Amino acid sequence: MRILVISDIHANYTAFETVLNHAKGDWDYVWCLGDVVGYGPSPNECVERLRELPHLCLAGNHDWAALDRLDIRTFNPDARRAVDWTRETLTEENTRWLRALPTTFVIGNYTLVHASPREPIWEYILEPLVAALNFPHFETQYCLVGHTHQPVIYEMVNDNGETESYKPSYFDKIQLNGHRKIINPGSIGQPRDADPRAAYAILDFEKNIWEHRRIEYDIAKTQAQMRAHGLPERLISRLEHGW
Ligand code: ZN
Repeated sequence: MRILVISDIHANYTAFETVLNHAKGDWDYVWCLGDVVGYGPSPNECVERLRELPHLCLAGNHDWAALDRLDIRTFNPDARRAVDWTRETLTEENTRWLRALPTTFVIGNYTLVHASPREPIWEYILEPLVAALNFPHFETQYCLVGHTHQPVIYEMVNDNGETESYKPSYFDKIQLNGHRKIINPGSIGQPRDADPRAAYAILDFEKNIWEHRRIEYDIAKTQAQMRAHGLPERLISRLEHGW
């Protein structure tokens, strides 16, 4: 079975649809690592599009924020405004769907979470040291995470837990080699690695073959929709810079 691995759509329907078109025919099932909503202009459209697909979806911190499940006083003012707008905009049915999302899921060789295995909603794995501290917190060979909006592979290179990070080489199929790994497919709707293109991945579940991908989408279209809804300018401009 081939899996379309996506994360952090963040209500960016244009980016999501572009990824679905680009990946057409290359997958049988979707794994979504959370943050379907928050920041972007199309929370309902994104939830409904995902719900049409055969999928498994994890809960992210922005999904929880939209459910009023967490205290958003720690969010910056722009993020807070976007959360308030998202809460008001989501339909009751889509809110109910978000409420049912699990925080961790284990399937075959893979553990799926939004943020990190030890803190599934919150922790940012931005460096090998933090990845190393997380290996004891899951039992499978591989763990897939989102949350940082940066595609990367962390690999435990020896039994002492030493961990290295690898930047993705896009459209290169990698045979996962049995060394434990924490892998991030990157973000569809709000990349933060100075590359504004939408990021996603394809996984061959039985053969453990992973492929990071990156593609352009119509950023201006999403930005115009955000402006029309009065979303914060800083959130609009960051899309074209990829941060
Ligand atoms: Zn996110």
